[in-house]
Amino acid sequence: MKYSYEQLEQLDKQYVWHPFTQMKTYVEEKPLIIERGQGSYLFDVDGNKYLDGYASLWVNVHGHNDPELNEALHEQIEKISHSTLLGSANVPSILLAKKLIEIWPGHLSKVFYSDTGAAAVEIALKMAYQYWKNINPIKYEKKNRFISLKEAYHGDTVGAVSVGGMDLFHRIFKPLLFERVEIPSPYVYRMEEYGDEEEIVNYCLQQLEDVLIQKHEEIAGVIVEPLVQGAAGIITHPKGFLKGVETLCRQYGVLLICDEVAVGFGRTGTLFACEQEEVHPDIVCLGKGITGGYLPLAATLTTEDVYAAFLGDIDENKTFYHGHTYTGNQLSCSVALKNIELIEKRNVVSEAKRKAAVLAEKLPTLYELPIVGDIRQKGLMVGIEIVKDKKTKQIFPRSENMEHQIILEARKRGLIIRPLGPVLTFIPVLAMTDDQIETAVNIIFDSIAEMVKVVR
Ligand SMILES: *Cc1c(COP(=O)(O)O)cnc(C)c1O
Repeated sequence: MKYSYEQLEQLDKQYVWHPFTQMKTYVEEKPLIIERGQGSYLFDVDGNKYLDGYASLWVNVHGHNDPELNEALHEQIEKISHSTLLGSANVPSILLAKKLIEIWPGHLSKVFYSDTGAAAVEIALKMAYQYWKNINPIKYEKKNRFISLKEAYHGDTVGAVSVGGMDLFHRIFKPLLFERVEIPSPYVYRMEEYGDEEEIVNYCLQQLEDVLIQKHEEIAGVIVEPLVQGAAGIITHPKGFLKGVETLCRQYGVLLICDEVAVGFGRTGTLFACEQEEVHPDIVCLGKGITGGYLPLAATLTTEDVYAAFLGDIDENKTFYHGHTYTGNQLSCSVALKNIELIEKRNVVSEAKRKAAVLAEKLPTLYELPIVGDIRQKGLMVGIEIVKDKKTKQIFPRSENMEHQIILEARKRGLIIRPLGPVLTFIPVLAMTDDQIETAVNIIFDSIAEMVKVVR
């Protein structure tokens, strides 16, 4: 039987607890119930269509319902869907690992699989910690802590939250977390008292260096989101920051972990964000776009040096005791492999770069609106910071729910986007066409303009 929208709505509200959602207000509204997708469009159960302006949470690469990805999955499902990687191997996970190492622009050599970005980060942290213990447990006895950025976001499991810096999400869990050392992030729009971009970068790097001078013996690694802090509200870092972090990590003997979960696979206009500053991390976390938005999969990549530190006789206890039930799942790995092949075949990365330039021409029109304070873009990742007053940069009180009202206006006009605090984010399906991108920006303009009318 086919359920009507009303029936599904009722069942959803009765049974499902949605992530990152205040359910008290959720149940007062009409939920969006998606039934299918095609290309850059999502269709709800009543057949209304919407541009997917959040790439179904930053994951979708080629569009929905892609015939070649579908076929790759069909082919694999006819063979086997899952067998374990604990002590045995499988074909797609081998071929994907080879591919990931080949496309990474540097010298990484091993792939450790998991199934969510948060898990890829947990693995990176545990790997970095144990690396030092395996090399020399006495000399590196104190290397137990991590440095991360203000407003950092690395996922929602307890370890990933421990290196997180978003007060709103993370404060409540503080007693559960391990301690981290925070350094400022170059959030240019809200740091004008520190000077221009270059001065802000220098200030942040100086803070990092100060910590490292004092505490490098206690620091196992630095974890950063390269180029863009996504969940923090698309905070784009000025040129030179990432490279500066890398240089300091090398200078003070701590590992560099780059969390490419959001920015990897073409999102910033290069296949990986680290490429843009020729940065070579010791550990890299991949997720989100890795399967083109089809299935959950993540991977932690590392160097031969880190890997080698885990080799030893059984009784040396150097083994990395970490794994998940679905590690290396064949369906996920086969669709990821096809995704990467198609990224190459369809020139997705150079196209994303070209479209980013088109978008960059169009976005400044939004500054005509009196509540658009800042527009930040890196590749096909956009944050539009909404303010009550452009001069003071004061944001709307949370109780007014301004950004939520704007995205509801956008939905009425056929575009799905999401806010992160006071920032509207536009993270299109990577394969979205020029026309669709232009339509999306027009809808964003009209939706904000509509709310301007309401508040004036
Ligand atoms: C989304 C995200 C994560 C967490 O990934 P999940 O798959 O949601 O667990 C980690 N790091 C960054 C930078 C992210 O954007």
